[in-house]
Amino acid sequence: MSALVEPNARVTQKDELTPRLMILRVVPDGWQLPHFEAGQYMVLALPPTAPRYALSKPETREPSPDRMIRRAYSIASSSMSGEYMDFYISMVSTGALTPRLFALEVGDRLWMSDHPKGMFTLADVPKHKHIVLVATGTGLAPYMSMLTSHLECGGTRKFAVLHGADHSWDLGYRAELEALQHLCSNFTYIPTLDHPEDEPVSWQGDTGWVQGLWKAGGIEAAWGFRPSPDTTEVFLCGVPGMLDDMLELLTAEGFTEHTRNDPGEIHVERY
Ligand SMILES: Cc1cc2nc3c(=O)[nH]c(=O)nc-3n(C[C@H](O)[C@H](O)[C@H](O)COP(=O)(O)OP(=O)(O)OC[C@H]3O[C@@H](n4cnc5c(N)ncnc54)[C@H](O)[C@@H]3O)c2cc1C
Repeated sequence: MSALVEPNARVTQKDELTPRLMILRVVPDGWQLPHFEAGQYMVLALPPTAPRYALSKPETREPSPDRMIRRAYSIASSSMSGEYMDFYISMVSTGALTPRLFALEVGDRLWMSDHPKGMFTLADVPKHKHIVLVATGTGLAPYMSMLTSHLECGGTRKFAVLHGADHSWDLGYRAELEALQHLCSNFTYIPTLDHPEDEPVSWQGDTGWVQGLWKAGGIEAAWGFRPSPDTTEVFLCGVPGMLDDMLELLTAEGFTEHTRNDPGEIHVERY
């Protein structure tokens, strides 16, 4: 795997939404940010000597002292920004990299790959088809990039985001998505909470798992028709349980999974 390398990028902004959820802005240090397709990911890395976040727990396995700790992160910012990349990251308390990423402050250095990767993009979706983006947690990251890169506000192509989280404070980008929904008649945002009983003020929105929203016809109610494989492509990104459930539901409705050699209407990113 990768030996220790010099950091090549810097943190220029850190938005801590909760102690376990942040948006990290990374800028290359003396090199040009590559072009990327919204939905792609980069690799971030730190050496094992990098300090761990105070609120994390001891790691389950000691990392190798002579290798960088590397993980993939979806780019959350628009492909139109040539200056920085944002990453929407949740902390795995006993994890190797995320507690070290959470310990970074503005100005700190890290390593970022110089070429974006991944096929989880809108590139293969016919322009006339509507798009449903289903996420749990930080699975929202690639969709923020897709929306800020490709949404034509008021256009004929509809976009919908179904976002599941435990609590309202875990709904990152909520204000931006609500504003987008207010401004763009062709954009729908439906958040749903798994633990509404913890809310300090009664939650007025949807509750339960995100796959329940699909089942209950959440999109149909907003769009006036039920998405079908002829009209709509569906993107799935988040926890394995949601991916499995959604794949089962969608397959029963005639959707098929997309691969490079075998085009379909379900696009899946597995974190
Ligand atoms: C293409 C791709 C894009 C990704 N994009 C993002 C992104 O935008 N934002 C983001 O936060 N993550 C993203 N991930 C996940 C990320 O790569 C890491 O796996 C994650 O941040 C955990 O890293 P870690 O080193 O802290 O934990 P690890 O040391 O890798 O894991 C420690 C333990 O926690 C478990 N674990 C791993 N991830 C989770 C989790 N999310 N919740 C609970 N337990 C977990 C592991 O099974 C393991 O047992 C993406 C993954 C892929 C493959």
